[in-house]
Amino acid sequence: GTPVSMRGPIAATERVGAGVDDVGIVVRHLRKRFGDYVALDDVSFEVPDGQLVGLLGPSGSGKSTVLRIIAGLEAPDFGTVELTGEDATTLPTRQRGVGFVFQHYALFRHMTVRQNIAFGLEVKKCPRTEIKKRVDELLDLVQLTPHAERYPSQLSGGQRQRVALARALAPRPRVLLLDEPFGALDAKVREELRAWLRKLHDEVHVTSLFVTHDQQEAFEVADQVVILHQGRVEQIGPPQELYERPATPFVTEFLGAVN
Ligand code: ADP
Ligand code: MG
Repeated sequence: GTPVSMRGPIAATERVGAGVDDVGIVVRHLRKRFGDYVALDDVSFEVPDGQLVGLLGPSGSGKSTVLRIIAGLEAPDFGTVELTGEDATTLPTRQRGVGFVFQHYALFRHMTVRQNIAFGLEVKKCPRTEIKKRVDELLDLVQLTPHAERYPSQLSGGQRQRVALARALAPRPRVLLLDEPFGALDAKVREELRAWLRKLHDEVHVTSLFVTHDQQEAFEVADQVVILHQGRVEQIGPPQELYERPATPFVTEFLGAVN
């Protein structure tokens, strides 16, 4: 089973205005333009509580814009964002309780692995003993205990992204947002991390949205996949269903293409 301490992003009693317990992320009717360019054109989908959902689409389809809107780094022109039942559309980023991992979300170079993971907890002024306990737990989870006192420059690319994940998980975010987290790594390491992320998610069950342009990656990792194309949702479903019953010509072609 899942250790209680690692489970659930945030205790029910800590939630503000919580109503729905079984939906982690809901975005409805998101629209976003950059000048005349329509980046998002009525995007709606849900990430059920505790699921890992893949947001898949070609470069430029609007994936990062969706993630940035969920994180509060970008405001939508229209539409709403709900996080664990709370309307978060106008909440500032720091109040959303989201954890991020980006492709180039650099670690603090002058801090050790342990200090990097502890950072978000120190900002929140957690008690020292609690920080130590949580960081040890996370080091174990991402299998970096032997590297705790190393600096980022002494780690491989794959190890660095595992530190980034542990750092994002440390403050127990209610949702985890991953934007092409393995995009900069070579194929073999990427494949290892995929399998590892799936395993980690099965242990932690934090509601996660995983952005990738790599169809194989999305299908291997995600419980459900949202396919985005030119700022619109083409289809949503479990990987097998998308393969067996593509709903649009775009999905047929996109999934048929060999990466
Ligand atoms: P993806 O992550 O799927 O590659 P993005 O969400 O980054 O796509 O971008 C979608 C479209 O919106 C792209 O054409 C991109 O050039 C454009 N875009 C994204 N952010 C901005 C911005 N801040 N200003 C202008 N155009 C942007
Ligand atoms: Mg992107």
